[in-house]
Amino acid sequence: MSDLSQVALLGLDRAELTALAESVGEPAYRAQQLLQAVYRQRVDSFEKISTLPQQLRARLAEKGITVGMPRIEQRFVSVDGTVRYLIAFADGQSVETVWMPEGDGGESGEGAGDSEDASAARGWGRATICISSQVGCAVDCQFCLTALLGVKRNLSAGEIVGQVCAVLKDQKVSPQHDRINLVFMGMGEPFLNYDNFIKAVRLLVQEVGLAESRMTVSTAGIVPRISEFGREAIRPRLAISLNASNDDLRTRLMPLNKKWNLETLMAAAREFPLRNRERVTFEYVLLQNVNDLRENAEEVVGLLRGIRARVNLIALNPGPGIDFETPADESVAAFQKILRDAGILTFVRRPRGRDIYAACGQLKRTVEIATALAP
Ligand code: SAH
Repeated sequence: MSDLSQVALLGLDRAELTALAESVGEPAYRAQQLLQAVYRQRVDSFEKISTLPQQLRARLAEKGITVGMPRIEQRFVSVDGTVRYLIAFADGQSVETVWMPEGDGGESGEGAGDSEDASAARGWGRATICISSQVGCAVDCQFCLTALLGVKRNLSAGEIVGQVCAVLKDQKVSPQHDRINLVFMGMGEPFLNYDNFIKAVRLLVQEVGLAESRMTVSTAGIVPRISEFGREAIRPRLAISLNASNDDLRTRLMPLNKKWNLETLMAAAREFPLRNRERVTFEYVLLQNVNDLRENAEEVVGLLRGIRARVNLIALNPGPGIDFETPADESVAAFQKILRDAGILTFVRRPRGRDIYAACGQLKRTVEIATALAP
């Protein structure tokens, strides 16, 4: 590490921090202090790392090294308690990150059905943080607002972890004391930024202290990465955005289906090495009269045969520029019943933060939302 001027501590692992400490002539134990400060204390500047000698803090800053904590630019608070954050990075690019507290053991989180703990006293029993993996998205799903942005760039591992640190700090919570779930379901396709995504996962588990079993990554279906992901020693649970019941429909809704069709996708899901009591989650956005009919449900039953699956149905969250309708509650319930009657564990996801554009498929940087909504 000769030129340190671009280096941010956030995103570096133990080995890299050790090398950094040694390269500025400091003993290796400084790495432990830096890990603590960055990932546990979640400091945003060197001045706040009280375990380091003042002189060293100054020296690091002089070299142009930064902590790299992203900045919360805006907060939008929903009537349901959801908070949508606009989080900005050093180059001025920004993404959205969502905080979803749940007080009542309700239905929507991945860990639904867990018992409550002490944090219930504050009005929520657990919370889910939804983080982004890219600025924008390249996948172009026809029902998703983020797709309208195109992809601007990948996030670094530090920027992915940084979203979690910024939100934990803002909410004054920690995974050591509170039930925190994490979903990689914000802006972007995590499996198109695989290396940074998986490095972020390791840091979140090993240094921030989040449980693997409380993390879920969702992919639109980048098939070769699904297999690679299955071989990781440390990995979240897997969710696949299915969203259609046959190839014609899926190619229309999700053009990436041309490259990886349902046959290859379902084969990867079938071969995915599940852990004890684990299931593959399939997400299915219901679009009125497009993919929400009885025959679609029956086709889904066929696709999922032989897979230890869980299905999350999501009625379309509407948005400007999205040419689909949200189905009525009764059609959602009818779809769910067909799956359940076939023995498939199926839930309906309650939308969170729709009023502030925080719900699934609604993440699109705020500035652009304002433009899209302008008359
Ligand atoms: N790119 C990854 C991660 C994003 S997850 C993926 O596609 O899986 C976002 C989830 O929201 C996906 O399951 C997607 O299908 C769903 N979604 C997208 N647009 C939506 C909308 N308008 N209403 C409801 N869900 C939507």
